[in-house]
Amino acid sequence: MNAMDSSAWTGEETAAAPERVPFDFKIEREAHKLEKRLCREAGKAIVQYNMIEEGDKVMVCMSGGKDSYTLLDILLKLKARAPIHFELIAVNLDQKQPGFPEHVLPDYLRSVGVPFHIENEDTYSIVKRLIPEGKTTCSLCSRLRRGILYRVADELGATKIALGHHRDDILATLLLNMFFGGKLKSMPPKLVSDDGRHVVIRPLAFVAEKDTTQWAKVRQFPIIPCNLCGSQENLQRKQVGEMLREWQKKYPGRVENMFNALQNVVPSHLLDGALYDFKGAHATGVADDNGDKAFDAEDFPEPSALPGVQVVRIQ
Ligand code: SF4
Repeated sequence: MNAMDSSAWTGEETAAAPERVPFDFKIEREAHKLEKRLCREAGKAIVQYNMIEEGDKVMVCMSGGKDSYTLLDILLKLKARAPIHFELIAVNLDQKQPGFPEHVLPDYLRSVGVPFHIENEDTYSIVKRLIPEGKTTCSLCSRLRRGILYRVADELGATKIALGHHRDDILATLLLNMFFGGKLKSMPPKLVSDDGRHVVIRPLAFVAEKDTTQWAKVRQFPIIPCNLCGSQENLQRKQVGEMLREWQKKYPGRVENMFNALQNVVPSHLLDGALYDFKGAHATGVADDNGDKAFDAEDFPEPSALPGVQVVRIQ
């Protein structure tokens, strides 16, 4: 095994059963399968995008939500099995929202024995002062948070910043950018920050949200509610999330196919002249199996052939 083999990270054969699963055998077996799947998907993303390298110090951003707890938990498991050495440090930004239970994360992080840092910055008051009542506060809040987390990463000597976004966040972002931004753009699994100084990674990029939800229950993470700031939820993101969940139920495989599509982009079959030289396209005289079959309809499965789909005939 080598560092580029994701099974070397996940240690699939040796994965121990999770520590806090309930006593029921069936539940225990399901929890064990879920743990293996989470480790496998995260390990695969880490290797595929070279997210974590020898000697890295990974700053894990903890909000207190199910995704960030899952991220830390799975990274701790992978760290114990990975063929390379790296450090983890959990960081929480206490934004001084009213009612924020400031003891919850430190207590949990101490209990799992991970080094951590709590950064106290009253962004809540800044946002309240600058944004008129009734207007959405998230964009200023996120900008302030990003700047603070980059500074903290510098101060801690972190070489990577890990965020807990998962597959469904990536798909929702893709759809939101298409619907409202006029862009074919999503959330990358690894990126260089806008100040050019940090590498941000999303090790849960291949993980389905239902798995982080389930894992949070299995592990009984002490979740901190995300509505303490009093800001309205992002309605468009919520609607798109609901649409994806609905599709998942009605059309099994659709969400997975959409996610696979993000890894199989064909620039010559989109319309962006910056990605493909349409002006310079000329007949080459050489047959190409991947070339366009210009006069043939695309060959998609009939709706009735898709699992779980009933065809209703309209008279
Ligand atoms: S929901 Fe509240 S804490 Fe979260 S980004 Fe928006 S304003 Fe900030």
